[in-house]
Amino acid sequence: MSDHPLILVVEDDGAVQDLIVTALETTHSYRLCTADTGTQAVIEAATQRPAVMLLDLGLPDMDGVEVISKVRAWSDMPIIVISARSQDDDKIEALDTGADDYLTKPFSVDELLARIRGTLRRLHYIKASAQDPVFVNGDLTVDYNSGIVTLSGKELHLTPLEYRLVCVLCRNVGRVLTHTYLTREIWGSTLDSDIASLRVFMATLRKKLQPLPDSPQFIQTHVGIGYRMIKL
Ligand code: CA
Repeated sequence: MSDHPLILVVEDDGAVQDLIVTALETTHSYRLCTADTGTQAVIEAATQRPAVMLLDLGLPDMDGVEVISKVRAWSDMPIIVISARSQDDDKIEALDTGADDYLTKPFSVDELLARIRGTLRRLHYIKASAQDPVFVNGDLTVDYNSGIVTLSGKELHLTPLEYRLVCVLCRNVGRVLTHTYLTREIWGSTLDSDIASLRVFMATLRKKLQPLPDSPQFIQTHVGIGYRMIKL
């Protein structure tokens, strides 16, 4: 049992917390701990060292974003934010503060379980490939040393900027990266015009990575928020 990943559920709404706990218990795949407040969340995170934190953004004593920045001061544990649909700005702020992914309320149990599995898969992949200079994801490989990107064994001809974009996405595989994060990584600035350019570069990059309509889709668009390289 003890090798089952520990999930910290931070949620002040008792009914939602019960729903999440029941859903996770039913799988018999996880151990669980819970917190109702931000203060308790930070304490549980530090003492229990969960594999993943599920974090409601609207907490009674502090904003969920504050919990993220406190935890990020000493830990890179994956944090999946749970927030209402109307809170896009809050999601962006949470992602920019260091959250890995988000779920929008109301969400289905299947969606929740898929996000947790995806996060754990990413963790496993990152641990296994930490020293590897070649990123492999399905048919896509990126050799960071030589700067060569191949798809199904064929070298892709990327512009320097597209290559940088691919590298940022690959190094953060599985994480949702906001427009602000990406433009800062690529251009060192976050002007509105950069975000417009980012859309254009992303569209041409996507065509190169997905040459046929039924090719696997590596880059997922999060409308109004950003992009994610999916771990296939
Ligand atoms: Ca709440």
